[in-house]
Formats: sequence, C-alpha cells, structure tokens
Amino acid sequence: MQTIQLLNMGSHSSQKNQFMPNPIKSVRGTRDLLPPETETWNVVESAVRALFRLYNFQEIRTPILEDLQLFQRSVGEETDIVSKEMFAWEDRARAQSEKGQWLALRPENTAGVVRAYIEHKMWERPGLQRVYYIGPQFRRERPQRGRYRQFYQIGAEVIGPSSAGSESPSVDAEVLEMLASLLDKLGIQGWTLELNSVGCAGDRLRYNEALQKALKDVVHKMCADCQRRAVTNPLRVLDCKVPEDQPIIEKLPRMSDYLDEPCRAHFAEVQKILTAVGVPFKLNNRLVRGLDYYTRTAFEFTHGALGAQNAVLGGGRYDGLSESLGGPQAPGIGFAIGEDRLVMTLQESSGTAARPADVYIAPLGAGMNLAAAQLARELRRQGVIVTLGDETFKLKKSLETASKTSARFALIVGENEVNSGQFALKNLGTGEQVSVAREGIAAKVK
Ligand code: AMP
Repeated sequence: MQTIQLLNMGSHSSQKNQFMPNPIKSVRGTRDLLPPETETWNVVESAVRALFRLYNFQEIRTPILEDLQLFQRSVGEETDIVSKEMFAWEDRARAQSEKGQWLALRPENTAGVVRAYIEHKMWERPGLQRVYYIGPQFRRERPQRGRYRQFYQIGAEVIGPSSAGSESPSVDAEVLEMLASLLDKLGIQGWTLELNSVGCAGDRLRYNEALQKALKDVVHKMCADCQRRAVTNPLRVLDCKVPEDQPIIEKLPRMSDYLDEPCRAHFAEVQKILTAVGVPFKLNNRLVRGLDYYTRTAFEFTHGALGAQNAVLGGGRYDGLSESLGGPQAPGIGFAIGEDRLVMTLQESSGTAARPADVYIAPLGAGMNLAAAQLARELRRQGVIVTLGDETFKLKKSLETASKTSARFALIVGENEVNSGQFALKNLGTGEQVSVAREGIAAKVK
C-alpha cells in the first residue's frame, strides 16, 4: 500500500523525480523482441513449420518446467549446463502431505521430449516418432552477442525402437539434408556443416582413458578450464578456444582412431549418403558437443556472420538416452537450432522482413471514423493490410503519420468521398494521387 501511495504522490508532485520509482528492467540475459524484428521471427517459424511438414515431422510441446533430475540424468551432472548454468530451485511443499521437489527451467529440449516419449509410451505408435518443437530455453551463461540466458530453440527429434529403423545411418543423413535445405530455403548462404562421430559408450570410455593419459603430462601447461575438465570431463578439453592451448590439443589422440567397427561403418554410411544427395560437409574430429548423451553422429552448422558464437545449430545421435531415463531401448537423433542466432544471420544478410501496411485510412472530419471503420473491414476481408487513422487528425497530420509508418498508400475518407463512392488514393512512394471507386481499391493497392 505504501508503495502505491508514494507512486500516486509522485505523479501529482511538482518534484516528480524525487518520488518516481526506478523503472523495472528486463532480467539480465533476457530481452524483449520488438517489432519489426518479430516479423523476421515469424517468417523463420512459418518456413520451418512448412519444411517440417514436408519431412513429416509433427509438433510436440513439453513444459518449460521439469524435474531437475531429468537434466542431471540426461545432459549430465559434470557438464557446464547442469553444473553451472541451470536455473533450478527447491519448490517447497505447500502442505505437510506434499513432497518438495527440485525444479529447473529447461536448458534444452531433447531430455523433455524423451521424457514425454517414455511417459506416453510413444513407442507403441507405429513407425518412428518424428517430432519438432519451438520454444524458449534457459541457461545462466555470461550474456554476450548471440548468447542469452533466455534463448529460443527450434529442434526436432527422430526416435523409436531399432526395429522401426531408428538406428539407421539414413536417418542421420535425412536429418542433415533437411537442415541444409532449411538454411538454403531461408536464404542463408555460406554455412558449414561440421561432422564427427563420438562413437558409442564403449568407444568413448577407451577414448576418455587415452585422453586422460595423454593429458597427464601436458595439462599443467593448459588453461584453468582445461585443467578442471581434464579431471571431470576430458572430452570437453577439445572444445577449448584458448589460443595457447591449441598446439597441445592438436597433438592429443583423435576420436576417429577409437571407433569400433560398427560405429566406423555407421559414420561412413552417413557420409556416403550426404555426398550422394549433394550436402557438403567438413569432418571435424574435435567436435564433441557439450552434452553427455551424444553417441555416434555429432554435428554443428556454423556461419561466419555470427562471430565468436558461430554455431547456428547443433545436434547428434543419442542412442541410450531413453534407457538412462528409465525407458525402453529407443535410439534417436535430433538437433536444436539457435533461433536468436538464425534470425541474426538472416537480418545480416537480408535486413528486416517487416511488411508495412498497404493502406493508411485517413478519416477526414467529424463522424468519419464510422465510414473509415466500414471501409477498413471491407478491405481487410480482401487481404489488404490496413492501418486506421482518426477523424480528429488534420489531413496533413494523417499523411505524415502514413508516411512515417511506411504505409504504401493513404486513402482519404471524407464526406464527399463517401457520398460519391469515389476515394482519393495517394501512392506515398511516388506522390501520385488517383480517384478510385470503392470496389476498385483493393485491386489497386495489391
Ligand atoms: P546446444 O543445445 O548447446 O547444442 O545448442 C544448440 C544451439 O542453440 C546452438 O548452436 C546455439 O545456436 C543455440 N544456443 C545455445 N545456447 C545459447 C544461448 N545461451 N544463447 C543463444 N543461443 C544459444
């Protein structure tokens, strides 16, 4: 109450600033998406939904809030995401009879999808489950260009029993080809597909041992992060970007030398199909990705325009994830596109996708709002984008507003126009003005 009183006092006081509360700002690492930028987001989302349809993917919507354990058991407790970046808290019981629970804002969506797959016994549905999602994810990272604490991902998963073909390398190749088509369709040029195989669990165990052994003698010369990772998660040493560490990392053992025969054959087949369908790729044996659940094919699409945070999307196979969450055997593969970064890349290459109004209707004189509203309704029904002015505006002000808001045409609605059924239509680009009959307006402006 006291705050409200202060606020009211402030607005009437001559010393306004003394009582004005500080404006509340958005939380660090989150941001408002405003028009016209949101238009580009909509263009992206419409394009991906249409493409997912073509590849027969259907939408899944899982909650933003999940049980913390879900991420501990899938993404992995030793990963940066779970150990450092989660927004998690203990949600205390509201009644004695209720149990408290640790909750987390989802930092990624594959774990949620696989949880839903298990919870709803989706393996009982025929064939492979091909699902996609679009939504916010949360990680407490240090914010910078292209890196936010609330960011958006567009992702998809193909998952199902092996008998439905979920392990086939052709699924990996199909997903990668779909992604290449998506970036091409959006007009994003100059992307690079980086590809690796991180092998199966056994391969990784042997590779981790080899890495640990090799790191023992050199890790003291490396950065603090590498020293920590060498103990907790040696694979992540390969992610290090510190220039001084690079010559050391180059000499470390390579994952490709530790793949068993089935993993090697699987990876070779993925590459063969990609080559056959004409999707270019670059092998990168340092690409390990930050999440524990990945097996075999791992990939990223990068783009030069993004600077330091250059991965526009990433993904891979996760055979074994379902089992680790208490589900049946259900190999799968998926990816997540960073929508913030995708939009950034698009804006850099083609500017804003915002579409201005076709017509600004300028009602001229008292009582004309009514006729303007009728005309706006008629035009909108014919697919014309209309902004409606107000009868209290002078003609000069209406035309200025129309120009400033980038409307393509201004339509003047005065008493004479309404009575005669002939309207003055001004092209705001050329300045040309013509008289058009009511029925002809839509055709003229489209
Ligand atoms: P990940 O789930 O880490 O594999 O990330 C997949 C994609 O999500 C990345 O390639 C980025 O494009 C995007 N991404 C991940 N973290 C962030 C973040 N903090 N801010 C913006 N985009 C992100």
